Order: sequence, then C-alpha cells, then structure tokens
Amino acid sequence: MRRCIACRESKPQDQLLRFTFRDGCIEADKDIKNEGRGIYLCRNRECADMALKRKAFNRVLRTNADAEKIERAIDEALGN
Ligand SMILES: [Zn+2]
Repeated sequence: MRRCIACRESKPQDQLLRFTFRDGCIEADKDIKNEGRGIYLCRNRECADMALKRKAFNRVLRTNADAEKIERAIDEALGN
C-alpha cells in the first residue's frame, strides 16, 4: 500500500500514479520502472489538482520544482 500525497489515502500501488524525482526533475513513471524515490497520487484529476494547489510535490520532496513541470508530469501520467 502506498499513500497519495494529496488526499493521504493508502491504496494498492496499481491504483496510484507513480512519479520519481531525479536530478531536480519530477517525472511520470508510468511503467513503475524508474529507480529512486517514488511519489504517489490517486489516478484522478481531483487529487492531481489538490496536489498542485497545495504544492504537495515540493513539500514531500523538500524541493522547489517548477509548477509547470509538475503539471506536465501529472498530465503525462494521467495520459492526457
Ligand atoms: Zn488521492
């Protein structure tokens, strides 16, 4: 079980989107194959928007990544 960084619900990994953080960059990890620390988000737009609004990625990762780049990674993960 992994926890969504937006709503903080724990769910099985296959119900969540996975992201990884590498070289200062947040990437969508669609195939769950990237190494490094995984960050998880529910597979829906609500949690994506909540995470963006609350700057949840940057808080969890203690970084200051560009909101635009985070949004792009989320869009990619959601398949938009
Ligand atoms: Zn969630």
